[in-house]
Amino acid sequence: MWDFDVVVIGGGLLGCFAARNLCRRKLHIALLEAREDVCTGISRANTAIVYPGYDHKPGTLKAEMTVRANAGFDALCRELDVPFSRCGSLMVSYGEKADTVLKKKYENGLSMGVPGLRLLSGEEARKMEPVLAEGVTSALYAPTAGTVNPWKLGIAACENAAANGAELCLNTRVLGIRKTAEGYRIETDRETFSCRAVVNCAGLAADRVQELLFPTPVHIAPDAADYLILDRAAANKPTHIVQYEPEDGGKGLSVVPTLEGSLLLGPSERENEVDFAVSEEGLSFVCERAALVLPGLNLQDTIRSFASVRPNPQNVDGSSIGSFVIEHPGPAFWSLIGVKTPGLTCADELGRYVADRLAAELGAEENPAFDPHRTGIRRVRDLPLSQRAALVRENPDYGEILCHCEDVSKAEVLEAIRRGAVSVDGVKRRVGAGMGRCQGSRCERAVMELLAEALGVPVTAVRKDGPGSEILEGSHGKD
Ligand SMILES: Cc1cc2nc3c(=O)[nH]c(=O)nc-3n(C[C@H](O)[C@H](O)[C@H](O)COP(=O)(O)OP(=O)(O)OC[C@H]3O[C@@H](n4cnc5c(N)ncnc54)[C@H](O)[C@@H]3O)c2cc1C
Repeated sequence: MWDFDVVVIGGGLLGCFAARNLCRRKLHIALLEAREDVCTGISRANTAIVYPGYDHKPGTLKAEMTVRANAGFDALCRELDVPFSRCGSLMVSYGEKADTVLKKKYENGLSMGVPGLRLLSGEEARKMEPVLAEGVTSALYAPTAGTVNPWKLGIAACENAAANGAELCLNTRVLGIRKTAEGYRIETDRETFSCRAVVNCAGLAADRVQELLFPTPVHIAPDAADYLILDRAAANKPTHIVQYEPEDGGKGLSVVPTLEGSLLLGPSERENEVDFAVSEEGLSFVCERAALVLPGLNLQDTIRSFASVRPNPQNVDGSSIGSFVIEHPGPAFWSLIGVKTPGLTCADELGRYVADRLAAELGAEENPAFDPHRTGIRRVRDLPLSQRAALVRENPDYGEILCHCEDVSKAEVLEAIRRGAVSVDGVKRRVGAGMGRCQGSRCERAVMELLAEALGVPVTAVRKDGPGSEILEGSHGKD
């Protein structure tokens, strides 16, 4: 039996940040993740927006956390050595009804203290973002909105937690939880863990994990969302995040210029569907909306599509819950259930919230040895030519470029593997190999060979993909 102070269940953004913030205290922490790598669930497939905070009901925890989280995002990303772009956002409308919605959001944002918000005329909006379709009637400009690579942020938080002593237990699925005199006993498909406290961050399965021991008044009613990614070479891309507020009050669209230079468009909304596979219907919706707002985009520039699943929280009577659900069903047991947008923006805030309360319950002292800094993988393409040459002289693997679309060298792939990538997808999420225009058709074989060598398995045994149907089996208790 493995003994810990705190067991965190689920290695998505929320679990990784809960573990990292718990490391600020003198606590022995285990992070249990059912899959072979962290951040392969919702944290891998979302819109990647760091929200400014004008969208939520003033006075709610969600609203307060979003504004605070946004303000601290540069510092957080500096600590964790993760790129972050404060590109700003324009929420655009094409008619009187949507203008009124934007005005309300503007007033809401002002009352929340969201910095720099401006309500623009259509003309001003098109001056700022000339690729917008003609006829725009108003726009809500939020200069503090930004974008971050979500899985890179989660992986960085996990690496930092591990460097501060947290034990990462991958391929460890929680199957049962029992109360003991000292705390809890956690049964998994590998080891049994005993601990004084539990933080349940099991994403789509968080309601079910809580129900292993406690009843939950909140249930997750999932629905699916589809996205498209356009190549960085696509013409007429916006430089700001563009969010379309439709006149009919229906589902809008977000268009995000990513840190990789590509363009993310989505999401659609497929009610009651639990599927990480894209649907034709969902993608058509995204294309139609995109053509309305950004008519200059050529959707033939699409290099990839993907889907996600929203963990919509519902009361037992089926009514939906608008705010974050933070459950405390038993002593030193905390659950984050149904945290959807803006959970990426607030991951660190939510982690702190739970860690502070748990530390108070356990009487845990501050950990003076906690080091919040982590160094990312050195990217050869970001270096000036003179430094590249020096690096290649030091280690020739930096001179061997495997992914030509994203300029990823063999040395970077090897470093991704050293840091925990066990699949082609794991390498891609750490260093971007295979994320470019050819989507890995040129580098995949080389990456697989390096993985095979490092893992001591034949190339045919190397896994290509991270998530997929297994996430759903795991998170919806089919085992
Ligand atoms: C479509 C969509 C778009 C979004 N866009 C944005 C955005 O633009 N900005 C923003 O701020 N937020 C956004 N969000 C919200 C954000 O993505 C999520 O809040 C965040 O990723 C939540 O991560 P998580 O850790 O709860 O879940 P996950 O990343 O799914 O992690 C849960 C983990 O728990 C593991 N697990 C499950 N069961 C068990 C078990 N029994 N034992 C062990 N491990 C288990 C899973 O394998 C998984 O790895 C979006 C969400 C969705 C769905």
